[in-house]
Amino acid sequence: MNKPALQPSRASESGRSLDVETERLLTASQALLAANAHHMAEGIEHLRLKAIVHELPDFLYVKDRQSRFVFANAVTARSLGFDRASALAGKTDFDLFPMGQATEFYRIEQEIIATGKPRLDMETTAFSTSDGKPIYRLTSKMPVRNDSGDVIGLIGISRDITERKRQEQLRRSQAELLEMIAKSEPLEMILEALVLMVENELTDIRGSVLLLDHEGTRLFHGASPNLPAAYSRLIDGIAIGPKVGSCGTAAWHGKPIFVNDTQTDPLWEDFRGAAGQFGLRSCWSTPITTSQGNVLGTFALYSGTVRDPTQRELEMIAMATHIAGIAIERKRTEDRIYFMAHHDDLTGLPNRAFLKENMAKILFKARRNGRKVTVAYVDLDNFKQINDSRGHGAGDELLKELTARMVDGLRASDMVVRLGGDEFLLVVVHQSRHDTGIMRRLHELQKMIAQPITIGGSEVSVTSSIGVAAFPSDGETPEELIAAADAAMYKAKEFGRNRMQYHSHGPDAAGVVPLSEQEELRNAIGSNQFFLEYQPQIDVASGRVVGVEALVRWRHPRNGTLPPGQFIPLAEESGLIIPLGLFVLNEACRQGKRWQTMGLPPMTIAVNVSARQFSDPALASHVAEALEASGLDPQWLELELTESTLMHDVPRALHVMQALKALGVRLSIDDFGTGYSSLAALKTFPFDRLKMDRSFVEALPRDETTVAIASAVISLARRLRLAVVAEGVETDEQLEFLRESRCHDAQGFYFSRPVGAGQIATMLAAGL
Ligand code: C2E
Ligand code: MG
Ligand code: MG
Repeated sequence: MNKPALQPSRASESGRSLDVETERLLTASQALLAANAHHMAEGIEHLRLKAIVHELPDFLYVKDRQSRFVFANAVTARSLGFDRASALAGKTDFDLFPMGQATEFYRIEQEIIATGKPRLDMETTAFSTSDGKPIYRLTSKMPVRNDSGDVIGLIGISRDITERKRQEQLRRSQAELLEMIAKSEPLEMILEALVLMVENELTDIRGSVLLLDHEGTRLFHGASPNLPAAYSRLIDGIAIGPKVGSCGTAAWHGKPIFVNDTQTDPLWEDFRGAAGQFGLRSCWSTPITTSQGNVLGTFALYSGTVRDPTQRELEMIAMATHIAGIAIERKRTEDRIYFMAHHDDLTGLPNRAFLKENMAKILFKARRNGRKVTVAYVDLDNFKQINDSRGHGAGDELLKELTARMVDGLRASDMVVRLGGDEFLLVVVHQSRHDTGIMRRLHELQKMIAQPITIGGSEVSVTSSIGVAAFPSDGETPEELIAAADAAMYKAKEFGRNRMQYHSHGPDAAGVVPLSEQEELRNAIGSNQFFLEYQPQIDVASGRVVGVEALVRWRHPRNGTLPPGQFIPLAEESGLIIPLGLFVLNEACRQGKRWQTMGLPPMTIAVNVSARQFSDPALASHVAEALEASGLDPQWLELELTESTLMHDVPRALHVMQALKALGVRLSIDDFGTGYSSLAALKTFPFDRLKMDRSFVEALPRDETTVAIASAVISLARRLRLAVVAEGVETDEQLEFLRESRCHDAQGFYFSRPVGAGQIATMLAAGL
């Protein structure tokens, strides 16, 4: 040790007297710190040294054998909460640190003192009392000896390496994030990890990533693991703009928007309440951009206090924005690659690869829901010639136009796939169990394809050959179905192109292309394939037949007798209901009159009138003509209307009904209870009868609610002087209930199914 430079004043400054040994140590340490001082002038040189020691950024202190502080430089004192270095003298780590840590320090120091061996470069961790974050130090402790070589204490030097540690940690986290990006982990997970990393680095900060949609107009949730869920939901999907909080505005302008008080800043006017409610006082948002500077979203930090971001926060924002940009851009690129791999460049339609990935799913769902799927293989007949004669540019134009027509001709839920060249596949999932309109739509689509197209100033037209197969009857797997449709398409070509061909298994099925269902229906009307059945309506009190309902059937040449549910919807859609309805009306009137001329007791004949018929301005004149032609007295004809028919246009409905009433016919409301069931409608419209729907009667008399409603409807109808017919009576109990509720009439299988005119005559003659 060097020559002592005594400074006894330290001990007295602290107001405590130190023991002799300590005094000596102090002396020794001063000597140490003032190394080489004796070579220089006393006084000024000494002061300079002292200043250096206290200016040192590292911690420097001397302790005695009992591990009490003898000397410490200013940094050490400050880090422990003292403003004067001298205030530390005499204190031990037990006065300054938590028990566990102090014990550990003490153990090491006592070992150094006992063995005389230094401990160099120890890493220690303590936790900050202010924010709980770890503080890392690199510490060396060395024994201090007196002239006789005895250890009289130790000298400690330590350096705060927290920042270095943090940087290391940060780099590790960044590396992990980049690895996640490289491994194509889900974007949400990457963004969430990013926000958590940033939050972990900072104090009292909550982070958020919002993603800009492809249109560049709205921001959607990206990651905000620690923002209140209610708040995140609130801002999810907000439209960006020049005054939409920090993020909406940042995305709008493409530059950072730092708001230090959400409660006063005008940008937050519309979101003040929400931010205030959740204690989000400042919000600093930065746009996340592509390498070309296009906005992809925003990265924002929220703080609970009114302030600007610190330097450290700014650094974190810059880092996080950068990484988020890489992650989002990467995801977008992947999405684009996926799209490109699954879609056709020219038309933008999904391609074979897409079909392969999705068809199995479509079939799986259809099977579960008991739905049919129709697959149509479309091949253009003369595309090659056009392509060859007019050039590829014209060919491309043509394909684009035809694509648009096909997409227009189908529903959004259907799929149009370009298989390659001039081949397309249409996949149509049936919306209901009997989707009668599909073949009609395909026929129309075929016609649309054949419409001329103007390319380069002149018209061209292409026809198509279409092969149709259905799931599950023609194939259960995507491969089977497509093969079946493909085979059918080849047949269509063989049969002379511009045709549609169904796939069928049988050897005889190779034949003619069937007509579209609509054409079939039209022909059927022309060739008398329709006939009527009649279902009796019984007076509940007397048991006598008081009327019949005429119900149409289709004697189909191949499929047998079809119930109305299988063709009325198509007839309605196509307008063929008008001629069909005319047939029913005339036939029913003629039959009614015929029974009367046979001498049977007169009764009401009810005819169903559908919505499309009701909106036909000629309805009243058609009715008048049918009555006239048959000679039936109008009082025996009843027209059944449904509520939905009337509600579209109430004034017009009233007008038409009045015209019908003027003819002397009766009007009834059919299927009451299935539609609006508006009691007001009963009062508004001039009805004679109310037909309580079968679904109601079905639930009688078990279901209490139905019983209550049915009773109410019956008694209300009585008060309105409407007769009630209960439809679909099948059991004794139902009839019993109706009798008790004083329901007038009943119709249903209990009495009779719909039957031919001859059987009705027999029933009436027998006086049923
Ligand atoms: P709707 O007018 O409600 O006719 C009553 C339907 O209920 C008939 O079915 C009848 O067979 C059935 N039904 C009657 N009693 C019972 C029963 O006890 N149990 C069960 N389960 N069913 C019963 P249908 O003949 O299949 O007619 C269905 C619908 O087709 C009719 O319902 C009507 O809306 C429509 N429709 C029938 N014929 C024509 C027509 O000529 N023109 C128009 N526009 N529509 C018609
Ligand atoms: Mg009816
Ligand atoms: Mg009905």
